[in-house]
Amino acid sequence: MIQASPVTRELFDDVMVPNYAPAAIVPVRGEGSRLWDQNGREYLDFAGGIAVNVLGHAHPRLVAALTEQAHKLWHVSNVLTNEPALRLAQKLCELTFAQRVFFANSGAEANEAALKLARKYAADHFGPDKREIIAFTQAFHGRTLFTVTVGGQPKYTEGFEPLPPAITHAPFNDLATFAAAISDRTCAVILEPVQGEGGVTGATPEFLQGVRELCDRHQALLIFDEVQCGNGRSGHLYAYMGYHVTPDILTTAKGLGGGFPISAMLTTAPIAASLNVGSHGTTYGGNPLGCAVAGAVLELISDPELLAGVRRKHARFMAGLRAINERFGVFRDLRGQGLLLGCELEEPWRGRSRDFIKAALDEGLLVLVAGPDVIRLAPSLIIPDELIEAGLERLERAIARLAAG
Ligand SMILES: *Cc1c(COP(=O)(O)O)cnc(C)c1O
Repeated sequence: MIQASPVTRELFDDVMVPNYAPAAIVPVRGEGSRLWDQNGREYLDFAGGIAVNVLGHAHPRLVAALTEQAHKLWHVSNVLTNEPALRLAQKLCELTFAQRVFFANSGAEANEAALKLARKYAADHFGPDKREIIAFTQAFHGRTLFTVTVGGQPKYTEGFEPLPPAITHAPFNDLATFAAAISDRTCAVILEPVQGEGGVTGATPEFLQGVRELCDRHQALLIFDEVQCGNGRSGHLYAYMGYHVTPDILTTAKGLGGGFPISAMLTTAPIAASLNVGSHGTTYGGNPLGCAVAGAVLELISDPELLAGVRRKHARFMAGLRAINERFGVFRDLRGQGLLLGCELEEPWRGRSRDFIKAALDEGLLVLVAGPDVIRLAPSLIIPDELIEAGLERLERAIARLAAG
C-alpha cells in the first residue's frame, strides 16, 4: 500500500481557517471511551466529541448500521423520501410528544428551522405584530446569524452586525423578569433545559413550569433546545421528560447520530402545518446514512436500562469529583444532570479552565470547558465504570500537578 505523506498538527495553521485552536495531538482511532493519537498514545475520553459520542467510538452496532446503509443508498435528496428517514421519524414520534419531524444536519440548522417555524406559525395565526423571540443569557443555540443572535453570549455576535431584529434576552432561572418580558407580541421562547456551553446550568423545575404557563397565557411557542442535553445525556431520553414539562417544538442533534452529522426538529401536527410545501428545506436533511445511524443510536439509548445506567454513572462521577475536591479544593460547585457534568472553579483558579484541559491532556484524559470558569464532562453514556475510575485518577493527577504549580 502506498502511504500518503504524513500530516501533523502544525499543518493545521497553514491550511485551515484559524477559527479553532485544536489541541496538540491528532487522534487517529477510537474504540469505546478510548482514543489513540498519531504516536499510539492512549487517551480516555470524558469529552465525547462535545457530547456527541453517546455510544463511544466505533460502536459495533453503529458501524454495522452505517456500512449496511452505505452499500445500499447514500443520498436521494428530498425530492424523494427514504426508508431510514421514515423509520427514524416514526420512532421519534413514538418515543416523544412529537407528531411531526424535520431532519437537518446540525444543531444550528434544527434551531434555525424551529425559529423560522415559530415566526411562520405566528404570521399564519396571529398576523405580523407577533414576532418577538425571547431567549436567555448564557444560552447557546448555534452559529448561523439567526441562532447566534438568539444565543445569549454577546462575544459570539460581535463584528457580525447587523443582526436579525426582534430578539431579546432574559436572565435564566429568573421567572419574575421573564414574566415582565413576555407579552402577546412574543411568538416564541427558546431555552436549553440544561444550558451546556454556557456553564452546565440546569433549569429549575419551577422556572420551566412557569415559562410553560406564561407561554400558554400569551400564545407563544415554547422551544426546547435539546441539541446537547437530549438523547439520553440527562439520564432521561430527552431532558423535558425528567422535568415533566412538554415543549411545542424540540430540537436535537449532537448525540442523535452518535458522531454522524444529523439533527431533528420535533413538533406537533398543527404547528408543523405552517411549514407547508416549499417554505423551508435542506439538501442533505434526512439523508439515508445519517438516519440509518441515528435509528441504531435511538434504539440503544431509549433502553430504560441504559438510561438507568446514565443516572448510576452520574452518581459515580459526582462521588469521585467530590473526593478530588476534598483534597484540592479547586471546585466551588459540582453540578449537571446524567452525564453532562460541570465543575465550576474556585478562586484562584477562576478563568483558568483551559489550563485544566491542557493538564488533563498531558495525563491522557480528554475533558471540555464550558466557559472560562467551568470544566465540562460529557463522556459516552455507556462508559465502563473502570474507565470512569481510571479517568478520574488521571484528572486527579492533572489537578495535583496544577496545584503544585
Ligand atoms: C452544539 C449546540 C448547538 C449547535 O449545534 P451545531 O451542530 O454545532 O450547529 C445548538 N444548541 C446547543 C444547546 C448546543 O449545545
